[in-house]
Amino acid sequence: MKTKKSSDDGLRDQILKDFARHINPSRVRILKSAGLDLIEDKREGPYVWDISGKRYIDCMTGAGSFNVGRRNPRIIQALKNALEHYDIGGFLFFSELKVSLAKRLASISPGRALSCVTYGCGGGEVNDFAIKLARGYTLKTKVISAEMGYHGHTGFALSGIGRDSYQKPFQPLMPAFERVPFGDLGALEKAIDDTTACVILEPIQGEGGIIIPPREYFPGVRKLCTQKNVLLIADEIQTGWGRTGKMFALEHEGVIPDIMTVGKSLSGGIYPIAAAMYKEELQDFLFANPFIHFSTFGGADLGCAVALEVIDFIEENDLCAHVQKMGEIFENRLSGLLSKYPQILKEYRRRGLMIGLQYANETLGPRMSLELSRNGVIGVFSGNNPSVMRIMPSLVIQQQDAEFILDALEKSMKTLSQGAQNG
Ligand code: PLP
Repeated sequence: MKTKKSSDDGLRDQILKDFARHINPSRVRILKSAGLDLIEDKREGPYVWDISGKRYIDCMTGAGSFNVGRRNPRIIQALKNALEHYDIGGFLFFSELKVSLAKRLASISPGRALSCVTYGCGGGEVNDFAIKLARGYTLKTKVISAEMGYHGHTGFALSGIGRDSYQKPFQPLMPAFERVPFGDLGALEKAIDDTTACVILEPIQGEGGIIIPPREYFPGVRKLCTQKNVLLIADEIQTGWGRTGKMFALEHEGVIPDIMTVGKSLSGGIYPIAAAMYKEELQDFLFANPFIHFSTFGGADLGCAVALEVIDFIEENDLCAHVQKMGEIFENRLSGLLSKYPQILKEYRRRGLMIGLQYANETLGPRMSLELSRNGVIGVFSGNNPSVMRIMPSLVIQQQDAEFILDALEKSMKTLSQGAQNG
């Protein structure tokens, strides 16, 4: 007799086989070996179920795309309501939703200083626009970004990425890009010259392994950029929307960038939308060049409706305060794990619910992913550096979810440390 289990396994094998054949063979191999070959089925709040019915707490969340939880009912309802009336809309024309969202974004922007917006569909695209705007407005060319930084895989964004392996096959990239070590003000000062249009940085490097710069770094970057007439672009695509316990991460330092890019969770995990927000004076460039940048689906009316609901949800539920509270639960127990399992956990870095676990060596990232998946948690090691794991659950987690994740971490570390002793 065919059992439910064997038919689930059959379906899983078929999906993985088809994925490998038609989409990406190596991704299947690598994720399988780390126990990350679940087939996503039902999703709700902080959880995802695979097709066998096993529940996981998702600590990857599309690198911060599900801050408001998966399939948040309010966001789904907002999309349903919008569908009664709208579609994506004409990208050339005007609509109430496009301006409602623009005004809302301006009202919550750091210092309320970023009153203008250009929409896109994804992070790379709006970073491309941000760099185009900086070059177009300043009439200068050089773009400075950080080693290990990550801004997406489109043209300008890819040129600013801080990792050779992403860039090499596509050389030559855009000219006049230069990288500096992240967190090093002296290096940045040296790199800025008369040709520099902008500096693009993540407030906390996500893909780079949750690298939190010293407190004085961003105020120093801001000062340098202002002194030298260089625009500061903050890429808040991963750090934004409450992830760090403030709406935007640079608010911790009180720094106002000239351009700020946002995406991921602005979509509510339901309908793609991203935005480059900027200071009014930069509109001079678009004033002279109104038709210089287009995105057919960018700022779709449906996306705007969803994004407005996402912002309301974050504010009405005071998600930033909740993140700080949940973050404390992690803080208390992670410090205990650090002293209990020093052979596994070397360090952790945390702001709000943006957490990086620094394991003692590169084999531990994939092995911890495997153990965590056995214990019902999706935790993914960084492609950049397999000794680092990002723990970025949905911001709607409750105390019992935080404890569940921490229990899974503890059990996994215990198993691996016993293995090390036996081996
Ligand atoms: N910038 C940052 C900081 C990111 O983390 C990402 C994606 O992970 C991007 C840009 C690219 O966004 P997208 O994949 O939507 O193009």
